[in-house]
Amino acid sequence: MKIARIRHDNKISFGALEGDNIRILRNSIYADEFKFTDIVLSMDKVKLLAPVVPSKIVCTGLNYKDHAKELNMDVPEDPTLFLKPSTAVIGPGDDIIYPASVARLDYEAELAVVIKKQAKAIKQESISDYILGYTCLNDVTARDLQKKDIQWTRAKSFDTFAPLGPYIVTDIDPSDLLVRLYVNDEMRQSSPTSNMIFNIQFLVSFISWVMTLLPGDIITTGTPKGVGELQRGDNVVVNIESIGQLRNKVV
Ligand code: MG
Repeated sequence: MKIARIRHDNKISFGALEGDNIRILRNSIYADEFKFTDIVLSMDKVKLLAPVVPSKIVCTGLNYKDHAKELNMDVPEDPTLFLKPSTAVIGPGDDIIYPASVARLDYEAELAVVIKKQAKAIKQESISDYILGYTCLNDVTARDLQKKDIQWTRAKSFDTFAPLGPYIVTDIDPSDLLVRLYVNDEMRQSSPTSNMIFNIQFLVSFISWVMTLLPGDIITTGTPKGVGELQRGDNVVVNIESIGQLRNKVV
């Protein structure tokens, strides 16, 4: 099922996609079972929003074998974690703002995990109970500031640096999906999630032993090889197999 968050008539709702339409949910997306209303809206009559409002976005640094090779870096012993603030989230079609204080802005296509229920110190074999689904994230990064600073908070946290969406897909196996990124229709990244160093079960469990994960929290799984630069005016698309396209413009 594809779950979207939309604005219609100044009201924000969740719903499930049915072809070009969306059927509005009656209950919470975090409930054990979805209950639907009779309201069906055409997708071209609604504004598609980021699919969740997370309390935090937990990101993984180097996590693709092909990206580690490209950077000439050793495979890390533990995942390198960092956070992006919830205020960085934008939805499909929203603009990525290139800050005046940044000299180099990069894209990073990533598969994002959406948490379904509170998770604290969870074993790997139980992880699927805590995952609502998967979506796309662009881990927009001020690469010059990342190199200049000791840690990455500033480089990763500007407003609009976390495009998220378009939908949450609930019923897919994320272990071998093709992650692609296009700038102005030119493919820049293309790699299967099977290239990950730490898989999703490991990552979500590992993070849950550090911090409590809440419903709607996002865990991103790192970017494959082919990271590169964005310019003002560029159209950037994260395309993940079986999930969809997250399209944004740099302004
Ligand atoms: Mg990243």
